[in-house]
Amino acid sequence: MPASGSPACRTEIRSRDFTLHGGSPAVKVALLAGGTGGAKLAAGMQDAVGDRLDVIVNTGDDIELLGVHVSPDPDLVTYWLAGEIDQLRGWGIKDDSFKVFRRMAAFGAPDWFSLSDLDLAACLYRRDFMAEGGRLTDAQAQIGRGLGIGARVLPMSDQPVRTRIMSSGTWRGLQEYLILEGGATEVEGVELDGIAEAEPTEEVLGAIAEAELIVIGPSNPVISIGPILAVPGIREAIRSSAAPVVAVSPYVAGKVVKGPTDLFMKAIGRPTTAAGVASLYEGIIDAMICDADDPDPPPTGIRAFSTPTLMHSTESRRAVARGVLKVGRHLAGS
Ligand code: GDP
Repeated sequence: MPASGSPACRTEIRSRDFTLHGGSPAVKVALLAGGTGGAKLAAGMQDAVGDRLDVIVNTGDDIELLGVHVSPDPDLVTYWLAGEIDQLRGWGIKDDSFKVFRRMAAFGAPDWFSLSDLDLAACLYRRDFMAEGGRLTDAQAQIGRGLGIGARVLPMSDQPVRTRIMSSGTWRGLQEYLILEGGATEVEGVELDGIAEAEPTEEVLGAIAEAELIVIGPSNPVISIGPILAVPGIREAIRSSAAPVVAVSPYVAGKVVKGPTDLFMKAIGRPTTAAGVASLYEGIIDAMICDADDPDPPPTGIRAFSTPTLMHSTESRRAVARGVLKVGRHLAGS
């Protein structure tokens, strides 16, 4: 659905009357996500619409390391959907051990990117599956199936895309920037290696075409959502969908919850606000949901809705998902 272009206004969402999964037939949702904000919304959305959820996930963070293929964002989303995520740490699997990783490090393997034992199992399986000629999409589907997930976790492309960051005058892989540099130094450039050759999978295009509501999760707009929208064909597919497109701002009370979103927004010359994020989605979103305590003026040119968007508990994740669904229904009916 094209952006409405209606005057900016800010409407409070009252979503208490929305029934969770199990009431009337749920709408089919395609959600674009990175690893943290988008993944938490995916968990809330799964509680609302069950397996009528497709999560299209960034693979620009992927890295080959320790003999395995690590796919940080798709796995993080998968662990959130499976209820296995270590919520305190914000990544990895709760109550897992690091025995294999520690033993490998003792042998001299690189130890800057740690993987717990069950996390390693998924990455080892993925590497093996793809070495046999399988697709990344099918490997992720098998991992999701193995963990009992009904919703689909769809890598944005089967072709490799690798996000690289220029900082302190040096280009590095994204994980090296985030972990070795602590994701704290000024970002001087962002590059998506392989993006021109990447294609959206038929599953991704199908999910967008069949969606009754398309959601852009509150993930880092530059390095999590940016690579998904940069895959040739994905923006166009969203634009030509008849479904409403709703973004959730990653700014809560005017600040990011976690991670270097501000550094990346500054690097591309956009304001570190919900309005700055909305400007990146111009032409594809119909509305943005901003945090109720966000002091920013609403993004101009698109409709803005407000509700508390901090997803720190099961109930708050469900409440944000209900708010998104309510805005979607409102847009579809208007
Ligand atoms: P990463 O791949 O782990 O960096 O994760 P993402 O790109 O998905 O998430 C980083 C963004 O998520 C940051 O901009 C955060 O502000 C945002 N975020 C994290 N938790 C929440 C939340 O509970 N609510 C909202 N609105 N945004 C969040």
